[in-house]
Amino acid sequence: MLGRDTLPSSSSLVDDDGSPRYPASSTIDRTSSSSATATGDIPRTASISHLSQEAAKVKIIREAIRAEDKRLRARYFFLREEWQDTIGTVIYLTAALSWAAISYSWYWGLIATPVTIVGNALAISLLHEMEHDLIHDLYFKRAKWVQNAMFAFIWVIKSNANPWWRRYYHLRHHQYAGQVVDVEERLIGLGLPWYSWKRILVTLTPAATLLIANDIAKDDPEFSKKVLVRYNAPVIAFSTVAMVLHLLYYLGVGEALVSVGIFPPAFYAFLLRVVLPFVVVYNGTVNLPNVLRQSCLVIISTYCHYYGDIPERDVFFQTQVLNHPVLWPFQLFCFNFGATHIIHHFVTRQPFYLRQLTAFKVTPILLEQGCRHNDLGNHFRANRWGKEMRAMVGNADKKSI
Ligand SMILES: [Zn+2]
Ligand SMILES: [Zn+2]
Repeated sequence: MLGRDTLPSSSSLVDDDGSPRYPASSTIDRTSSSSATATGDIPRTASISHLSQEAAKVKIIREAIRAEDKRLRARYFFLREEWQDTIGTVIYLTAALSWAAISYSWYWGLIATPVTIVGNALAISLLHEMEHDLIHDLYFKRAKWVQNAMFAFIWVIKSNANPWWRRYYHLRHHQYAGQVVDVEERLIGLGLPWYSWKRILVTLTPAATLLIANDIAKDDPEFSKKVLVRYNAPVIAFSTVAMVLHLLYYLGVGEALVSVGIFPPAFYAFLLRVVLPFVVVYNGTVNLPNVLRQSCLVIISTYCHYYGDIPERDVFFQTQVLNHPVLWPFQLFCFNFGATHIIHHFVTRQPFYLRQLTAFKVTPILLEQGCRHNDLGNHFRANRWGKEMRAMVGNADKKSI
């Protein structure tokens, strides 16, 4: 039977220092994908090892990141580890209060709707970064109730995945990035062709992850669609219903249903008086900003990861440096994710603001060591490292291409 009914504990996925833990043997079931061939520029490793095929380059890159991290922390007192909780709290409160102030101003007609959508998308993008850092235990490590309280507000305000559910799959992403069991990235379309309707829909709404979940369940016996729905539905279903109701109202569906006698006029009047104002405020301040933010993040995140034909547990091949000016409008809503996420794959124990500061010095070193750079063809090869788009390891995606 595929799947299981409970979410496994995340503690087995990381070592004591927070870096991804690599089990002695692969947990990826390759029995059903034995016909997969290694194509592209690199051979697939026959035996599973977390030693990179580019171990010397990985060592240079990791040392450069750690050295710059150390230099910055020594130079600026507020970047020191003992200030991390305070910085995190300031960023969290600034983002949450900015969201509240922008929403309040829009509600009273002081600012226009497009300004609200952009402003709130920016504020929520900081909360997304905070969520990611909290998943890596970078703030309030010894005060789990603070982490949980922060997660709770983030879950509602992001209209997206449950942070407690995401914690498990994000840490697993670091273990198995680019493999068939990389659930987190596959659920946002990694590995699918750019023209796939599933990929287009999942870029626009997290509700569309359901369309991909069956494909993943075929490849990953540990993944449970039931658990996915149980953990994530409360917020995603609520926000999706609000968006659909708003759309139906604009299309005049309610009035049409009244005119043909399906909706009693009193019921429709109740919807207009009680439900519609809530829906309009919820969508204007939360859901529409999230459509903008989430779409930008999904485009950039799937653009900078590789999938399917890269060696397992080899950080050198998992991501690229994506800092092309044409992508700046998207990067704006995900804190320059495409340009810096690669640094996070090499060294996970770094808050997002420090990663960005480190990037100024480290990016030239990444390029010197031969990391992929502005590979804009990645999307058009369904995220394959090699040129041959049909180099695949999964079962489900064979049908999708
Ligand atoms: Zn991470
Ligand atoms: Zn990643």
